[in-house]
Amino acid sequence: MKEETIVLHAGHRRDETTTSVAVPIYQTTSYQFNNTDHASKLFSLQELGNIYTRIMNPTCAVLEERMTKLEGGAAALAVSSGQAASAFSIQNICHSGDNFVSSTDLYGGTWNLFSNTLKEMGIECRFVDPAKPEQFENAIDEKTRCIYAETLPNPKLNVFPINEVSKIGKKHKVPIILDNTAAPYICKPISHGANIVVYSTTKYIGGHGVSIGGLIIDGGNFDWEAAGTRFPMLNSPDPSYHGAVWSEAAKPLGPIAYILRARVILLRDYGSSMSPFNAFTFIQGLETLPLRMQRHCENAKKIADYLSNHKKIDKVIYPSMMTGMMLERAKKYMSHGTGALVGFELKDGESSGKKFIDNLNLFYHVANIGDARSLAIHPSSTTHSQLSNEDKLSAGVTPGYVRLSVGIEHIDDLIEDLDQALDKA
Ligand code: PLP
Repeated sequence: MKEETIVLHAGHRRDETTTSVAVPIYQTTSYQFNNTDHASKLFSLQELGNIYTRIMNPTCAVLEERMTKLEGGAAALAVSSGQAASAFSIQNICHSGDNFVSSTDLYGGTWNLFSNTLKEMGIECRFVDPAKPEQFENAIDEKTRCIYAETLPNPKLNVFPINEVSKIGKKHKVPIILDNTAAPYICKPISHGANIVVYSTTKYIGGHGVSIGGLIIDGGNFDWEAAGTRFPMLNSPDPSYHGAVWSEAAKPLGPIAYILRARVILLRDYGSSMSPFNAFTFIQGLETLPLRMQRHCENAKKIADYLSNHKKIDKVIYPSMMTGMMLERAKKYMSHGTGALVGFELKDGESSGKKFIDNLNLFYHVANIGDARSLAIHPSSTTHSQLSNEDKLSAGVTPGYVRLSVGIEHIDDLIEDLDQALDKA
């Protein structure tokens, strides 16, 4: 099936008991076992099945199955937020004393998680500028467990060199984890060599700004066993699950050692599960994701064109308007458009940026992206206001920078709103 069909049909045809076509919301905590043998087989993972909603739920399972198929992976895990997905993706293979290498171009929440919270747990994050992909190799040593990056990080909107860095990962037997939150449907990281994909489903997958959630998709394309001592958490007995060796235990179930451990250890212990109701809202969103993404991208391109001809604007930041290597990457990794995030720099700096935002009527002024509605923010006075001027500039946030998350409204109304707000900026 093609993507447009997968999002409507994968993982659920009809409910076997009621014949319901819509995916039911299984609002239950527990599942009755057939007998004691059945219960013990489930607990020992000899048989896969529902035990308790903290660890699995049939509504969440449909979302997991659809996203697995959409990404071309082997299995997925739904969690309570994008932040939980990023944290689990690292904690599933990194212990205290280990390190991982991350791109510097990250969402602020992920940056905090990596540079402070994981550090306090003894997990070191080594940051590398993705403009120089070869430097990822220099940062790897025998304690490096993965490489982490975002496909389309904002505010710079430089598409990540997935294939180039995945070759480095392959050479050193280090998996690549990609946060694809800003580019679902338009970029398929696993097809370019990534091994794990994480999402904040809060954004485009949900699309309507009603639920917080996250997903981790296991590409099933990384040989954990062959990487041997690099992954003690998957290749040696786990005292927290009767000495299970995850790369062994997963064999009868498929190439899913990574996601199996994340589910039965991290979800079991931390409990950051997605609620069945939120999974239902994400399933609704996912059904129209391809259509919405096409319209998001089409509107964003038209807005980028409009802004690039405006006299008050110095620079427009949009992947298809970049030059050289950055444009090559946008073309190589993106299809159906180059995303719906558009940045621009106002000539008159901070005061002009703030005036522009204060005069918008249609665009919402919110710290979010990926809603069906259009959104705008002035990062220098909000999301990045706690950074020094130097750090703001290295993050790509100049005083007059404005970020738009372009929605799916009629393009004429969007341009009219931008036009009148720019007049007053
Ligand atoms: N990753 C990216 C790229 C994001 O933009 C965000 C949130 O803005 C997150 C992760 C965190 O997601 P959540 O807010 O669902 O925890």
